[in-house]
Amino acid sequence: MSSEPTYVRKGFGLKAAVQDTLTADYDGQLVDLLLAREHTLVAGEVTIRLAKEFGFCYGVERAVEYAYQTRLKFPDKRIFLAGEIIHNPHVNAKLREMGIVFLKPSDKGFDYSGVEPADVVILPAFGVTIHDFETLRAKGCVMVDTTCGSVLNVWKRVEAYAKDGFTSLIHGKYYHEETRATASQVEKYPGGTYLVVRDMAQAEDVMAYIAGSFAGGRDAFLTKYAHAASPHFDPDKHLQRIGVANQTTMLARESLAIGEAVGATMERVFGAEHRAAHFRTFDTICSATQDRQDAVNALLAEPLDLMLVIGGYNSSNTISLAALCAERVHTFHVEDATGIDPETKEIRHRALATGQEVSETSWLPSTGAIRVGITAGASTPNNKIGETVARVLLTRGLDPATVV
Ligand code: SF4
Repeated sequence: MSSEPTYVRKGFGLKAAVQDTLTADYDGQLVDLLLAREHTLVAGEVTIRLAKEFGFCYGVERAVEYAYQTRLKFPDKRIFLAGEIIHNPHVNAKLREMGIVFLKPSDKGFDYSGVEPADVVILPAFGVTIHDFETLRAKGCVMVDTTCGSVLNVWKRVEAYAKDGFTSLIHGKYYHEETRATASQVEKYPGGTYLVVRDMAQAEDVMAYIAGSFAGGRDAFLTKYAHAASPHFDPDKHLQRIGVANQTTMLARESLAIGEAVGATMERVFGAEHRAAHFRTFDTICSATQDRQDAVNALLAEPLDLMLVIGGYNSSNTISLAALCAERVHTFHVEDATGIDPETKEIRHRALATGQEVSETSWLPSTGAIRVGITAGASTPNNKIGETVARVLLTRGLDPATVV
């Protein structure tokens, strides 16, 4: 009988053995050059400025490295991944090339019926729901859990809220893997409840309900929000005691504002002396998200003609970065370098307002001095950033190979 542990959270001690492959797959020469030159490259009349913090975060680095370690450790076993390891198409494609099979989620979670006890399942950086976790445990397969420590911190908060009879009000996207996993933590306690709000506008609906001024009352509220709440959620009962938490990759500024506004509402409705009995909050934005948002704000304080934000269209922290940039300067969120065609001068990018991909051709002036700001989401590898910078230069007729 095998003595292999069936639950692994710290990798297999193979970091050194996979390091060269990781470097070859994800490092980027142009980014190395930018780092060596205080995040600035000048070529002809084009100045590229890279944010001080960008790209792969500690959680993503760890998750990707553990996936590579897992392949090396089990060359002959079937390896599954619960969803995407992170929200970057290139990283996911690399894992597929390594023979890792991606399980697709549905409303009811993942379908693990094809997983056998002899198989290996990798859990992504976002984590999985309690239900998924328990299903895999019962299978007896090897689980390689890459859930980020910062996500685990949010789980602890949500669990504590549920234990103490508070509803978790989660600033996040109800359909996002991380938020689904976080929300499921309330199930550890009977009657545990959550409600997910996407932004301040939705938080204002919650505050209006608490204050008794939500138009349409209980039925209208449930019609609008039942899909983003626990199954037994009753606003009359479950908005009396609220604990605020966030998906780790939201706009930090908005999360903070939601926490403060909900706290002020609870104080108004229940009285300042009862605030602690009705309201708790804890900023669970992760430090990597915060650092990237702070760095892009610092970059935006400089004169820039446009910003390029690089990352998966479904990457929450990339979308948050693009939203920050769009407030200050003309911004293009591209998934990778292929979004820029130096021949046709076309750019394909995700429109912030609609979430749809659009294209345009007059995005980069063909002559004159221009300063282009660059940042990338926490799941974007350096080689994809470098390739994008190269295409900006090529669009202006500059050869990236001559940038020294
Ligand atoms: S964005 Fe934050 S929570 Fe998500 S993997 Fe990176 S460090 Fe962890």
